[in-house]
Amino acid sequence: MAEVNNKEETKEVEIPDTLPVLPVRDIVIFPYMILPLFVGRDISIKAIDHALNTNRMVLLLAQRDLNVENPTTDDLYLMGTVCMIMRMLKLPDGRVKVLVQGLSKARVSGFIQQDPFFVAGILKVTEEKPAEATIENEALIRSVKEQMDKVVGLGKTVLPDVMVVIENIEDPGRLADLITANLGLKTDQAQEILEMADPVGRLTRVGEILGREIQLLTIQQKIQTEARGEIDKTQREYFLREQLKAIQRELGDIDERAEEVREFRKKIDEAKMPEKVMKEADKQLRRIEKMHPDSAEAGTIRTYLEWLTEIPWSKSTKDQLDIRKAEKVLNDDHYDLEKVKERILEYLSVRKLKEKMKGPILCFIGPPGVGKTSLGRSISRALGREFVRVSLGGVRDEAEIRGHRRTYVGALPGRIIQGIKQAGTNNPVFMLDEIDKIGSDFRGDPSSALLEVLDPEQNNSFADHYLAVPFDLSNVMFITTGNLTDTIPGPLRDRMEILYLSGYTEEEKLQIAKKYLIPKQLDEHGINTKILQIKESAVRQIISHYTREAGVRNLEREIANLCRKVAKRVAEGKEDNFDVSAKNIHKYLGVPKYLPEEEMKVSEVGVATGLAWTEAGGDVIYVEATMMKGKGNLTLTGQLGDVMKESAQAALSYIKSRAVVLGLNEDSFSGIDMHIHVPAGAIPKDGPSAGITMATSIASALTGRPVRKDVAMTGEVTLRGRVLPIGGLKEKALAAKRMGIKTVIIPHRNKKDLDDLPKYVKEGMTFEIAETMDDVLKIALGSKAGTKGAAQKSRTSAGHAAKKIKKVKTLPVAKRSKVTNATRHDRRVKASRGNKKKV
Ligand code: ADP
Repeated sequence: MAEVNNKEETKEVEIPDTLPVLPVRDIVIFPYMILPLFVGRDISIKAIDHALNTNRMVLLLAQRDLNVENPTTDDLYLMGTVCMIMRMLKLPDGRVKVLVQGLSKARVSGFIQQDPFFVAGILKVTEEKPAEATIENEALIRSVKEQMDKVVGLGKTVLPDVMVVIENIEDPGRLADLITANLGLKTDQAQEILEMADPVGRLTRVGEILGREIQLLTIQQKIQTEARGEIDKTQREYFLREQLKAIQRELGDIDERAEEVREFRKKIDEAKMPEKVMKEADKQLRRIEKMHPDSAEAGTIRTYLEWLTEIPWSKSTKDQLDIRKAEKVLNDDHYDLEKVKERILEYLSVRKLKEKMKGPILCFIGPPGVGKTSLGRSISRALGREFVRVSLGGVRDEAEIRGHRRTYVGALPGRIIQGIKQAGTNNPVFMLDEIDKIGSDFRGDPSSALLEVLDPEQNNSFADHYLAVPFDLSNVMFITTGNLTDTIPGPLRDRMEILYLSGYTEEEKLQIAKKYLIPKQLDEHGINTKILQIKESAVRQIISHYTREAGVRNLEREIANLCRKVAKRVAEGKEDNFDVSAKNIHKYLGVPKYLPEEEMKVSEVGVATGLAWTEAGGDVIYVEATMMKGKGNLTLTGQLGDVMKESAQAALSYIKSRAVVLGLNEDSFSGIDMHIHVPAGAIPKDGPSAGITMATSIASALTGRPVRKDVAMTGEVTLRGRVLPIGGLKEKALAAKRMGIKTVIIPHRNKKDLDDLPKYVKEGMTFEIAETMDDVLKIALGSKAGTKGAAQKSRTSAGHAAKKIKKVKTLPVAKRSKVTNATRHDRRVKASRGNKKKV
């Protein structure tokens, strides 16, 4: 709405007493305003026609309710503005567009005509009192103008031209009118202003309205800013990223996401997955396409897809089932081990005849370093398969076998699938080491998951939690290894065929070193026999003074050590010929790590030689018994387990019960305390098989008869003196042999096991069979022990027991120190092994 500043002109216009009325719907027009109007109603068009034909003037009256289509005189406000029609245009649709200019306010004195258009009698309204230029008025004008600026500043649209006019008006009445006309107020509000005759009052009212408007606009703006802030935060990053991408595109970088998806698609096709897996992979790929590439979830899916595509779903090697070649490979790699090799060849033969053999799982049991792993490698080499090795030692969590579900942060497949991926084929030779060392606790039982892995009936659809799609393990050849069978969970043990590999004798070690380990290490260190000659005596020295083991792992290590030292000197250009024998080996390997276990030089009273069995092979133990004045108590030391303690009690009770036969005074027991000690005291020991050894040492201490130094024994003893069978005979026999002990007393029921002992073990050894404790004592204490005559003889000597005490006390002093010497290095070895001895 514009305003014309031509007061002079309007003053001259005569306003008649009656005028046609133009009802307007949503607008109130003020004097001095110029305004275009679209007129459509018949009643209005006729009024305009009439005016154009006369003095071109009409009275514009606002309609109270703008929804009324055909207003009556009652629907109109009675105060309006007389306007001059400046221009008129007939529109094609029948409507008329007129440009009107407000001349003066006028009030209706009465309606003269209602048809075909309204004609009203009017009274011209002039300002009540022209405003004075007081300081208050000026302040008011200024404040209203400022408010108007603010309103515009807050976003209200007012034409800049109008703002200029407003800036220049100094008349409060006209200022109020102009602002009202341009604020877009509601009709009733604008009408209220129009009807106010007092210019200052009018401007004050406009000021109020502006104040409210400012408030409204401020709140509105605040709401908008808040809302925008919210959106901004999330959208900002998005915009930045899009910009970044745009820049990358501009710089010629390819669209990463599309490229990634393309790559995955290619990988999926290449992986030749089973249909089910392919479906899953496709599904995940579609998800990743829709996701923001940097989101955490996209990362998880990416890792998953990488796993899916890298697993050898249908990649396999072709088996070479040439039994003769397999035999050659096994012999090339291993000395002896005939039985095991034969069993392996049988296994491979069956496999050749029946391809989809659901055969047993082979399980190699034996001490460390006896070639379990290297046998596995040889099998894979013979078959032309890949080889993977996974250790199960310390696995307590089912998820380590079967993987974590993908919902876990950092989830990964279990060790089985990891091994398969590492192998790169779906039919490797898969070695599960230390199957005897899996545990189970609140995190689940890994052995049940292993059962599924090893069971040929169900492992064709092994479900890894991470993959969530089955993998066929039925082509994998599983081999398990362990040191002992006792701790392998029963159901697992049932599924496996156990092949025992025992420790080696010194002679065997020598052969293995000469034929396998030395050539291998020379080759690995880039030297040859021209440069380094290792004499047999040197190897023997290494075996006895630098290693103490059932297998040959440390032996190999020491040989490697020797080669390294030589290689260094050769590289330094110092020497190029080395002749290593027992005499000069210490120059290369340093001082001997172990002194060979000294065998007992003399037979002693109260010290019996027993045989123990540990995970690392067999071992010799000495059981010492001594007595002192006391009240018949028994003290047991040397970290003995419950079973062993009870076994000691039983041994003592048996000896007590045989006191007469042994030539002892029954009463003498009440006057003495008995102490049994089994070095090395720092190593826990348990098991019943030291029963006869303890009984022998007690009997020897009591009777004062020395135990034969060249006899070792093993067997459980009952209260009635029966000798019960034991396990690990071969390892124990080997240990005795290593110590130079020639005679071993074994339980009668272990006699059959002698047949299984290899010849090299039995060579030069005597195995004495004992059915009862009496038999044991007969052998160990010499023929006279346990005879009536001896008993009588000893009974005659008064205070015999007391004398014995003296003897026992004095004798073992020298012996003790020796035993302890042996014990000390024993302890070193065993502590390093950390094994518990089974006796
Ligand atoms: P394990 O798995 O039983 O602990 P390894 O297979 O690791 O033992 O054997 C240790 C080392 O000893 C390997 O280098 C292996 O080749 C060698 N070895 C063990 N037994 C023999 C053997 N009978 N003939 C040749 N080398 C052997």
